[in-house]
Amino acid sequence: MSLAAGRPYLAIPGPSVMPDRVLRAMHRASPNIYGGEIYDVVAGIWPRLRAVAGTTQNCAIYIGNGHAAWEAANANLFSRGDKALVLAVGRFGIGWAESARAIGVDVEVMDFGKSTPVDMARVEAALRADSGHKIKALLATQVDTSSSIKTDVAALRAVLDAVGHPALLAIDCIASLGCDEFRMDAWGVDVAVAASQKGLMTPPGLGFLWFSDKARERCRGNDLRTPYWDWEPRAFGTEFWQYFNGTAPTHHIYGLAEALVMLEEEGMENVWARHHALAGAVWAAFDVWASGSATIAMNVAQPADRGWSVTAARIGGQDATRLREWCEHEAGVTLGIGLGMALPGDPAWHGFLRVAHMGHVNAHMTLGVLAVMETGMQTLGIAHGAGGIMAATRALSSRSA
Ligand SMILES: *Cc1c(COP(=O)(O)O)cnc(C)c1O
Repeated sequence: MSLAAGRPYLAIPGPSVMPDRVLRAMHRASPNIYGGEIYDVVAGIWPRLRAVAGTTQNCAIYIGNGHAAWEAANANLFSRGDKALVLAVGRFGIGWAESARAIGVDVEVMDFGKSTPVDMARVEAALRADSGHKIKALLATQVDTSSSIKTDVAALRAVLDAVGHPALLAIDCIASLGCDEFRMDAWGVDVAVAASQKGLMTPPGLGFLWFSDKARERCRGNDLRTPYWDWEPRAFGTEFWQYFNGTAPTHHIYGLAEALVMLEEEGMENVWARHHALAGAVWAAFDVWASGSATIAMNVAQPADRGWSVTAARIGGQDATRLREWCEHEAGVTLGIGLGMALPGDPAWHGFLRVAHMGHVNAHMTLGVLAVMETGMQTLGIAHGAGGIMAATRALSSRSA
């Protein structure tokens, strides 16, 4: 007997759950791309894309995933040999650094490990030491999806300003846009990077850059910029085809347009508050589970340093993998692997998992995941503090009161 029949639920940190409205918007015949409705749909996307990122500045869309968006950011931001300072708190910061280095950027990585947030004092010291202003851009993740560590983006801007360093501030919000609060203009972000398949609730396949007027001016003559990645025609094209440098990603556009309308209807403040509340329920359950186990622990100690879209945790020994497999095969819930926390092949790899609470998620989905996890721990004999679900429900009811 298995309890997995019924609608399966994917709780991995991307791709995320797609709303039926998004799926329905995509379920249609190919449109003409030389005129007609698709022009209007794309015209409706631009202002909403800006609103989601909290900017009135510039936006470019790429047909590609998050890795493509990284490369797009790198190609526009840098000339060969320019220096980047990358702040890494997990696998994705490292990945962005590797992407930049591979195309010829002089990358310095400040690695803060996998469980502690960016140390602003170290960043400040590095910027002060760069008195010749060789660092052209500071690259950081808002939420590193592997560790679930959040970086305080406004604090990074404050450090740059305090030092008087002119480096551009570029932020990977792939896991956090549409989940965690993000205000590009208010926080002085110069380049924001995102992709479609996480908080934006659309299939993988679109990457986005938002860039400030300042970044546009400062990066004009950069020699790493090739025609495909160039953000200029994508943001300022006079012909429709220039926005996509070729055929428009028609069905992604229909899906994205609908997802953006959904975010607008809910309101970004409410979207953020919903994610914060659901994250709080997950953290409350983990706190209780951890209280009865020496091996269960969330990866990030302080709630203020945790992303609102994903929670990485340790479930000791090999129990995380056992629990994930039970949840998937016996209860229809797929949890995330512990990406980047240990290498595959290392037994420690089986001690980590991630729970996504990202995008199109509500109370019953998140409480369902937690209840399934607790059922799995009971079934498998994984020691844990009893009452995690009670704690999660209390966390939610105190927030919605
Ligand atoms: C998912 C993710 C990426 C990579 O995106 P892909 O679409 O898998 O290429 C990069 N950075 C962060 C923070 C992510 O969450």
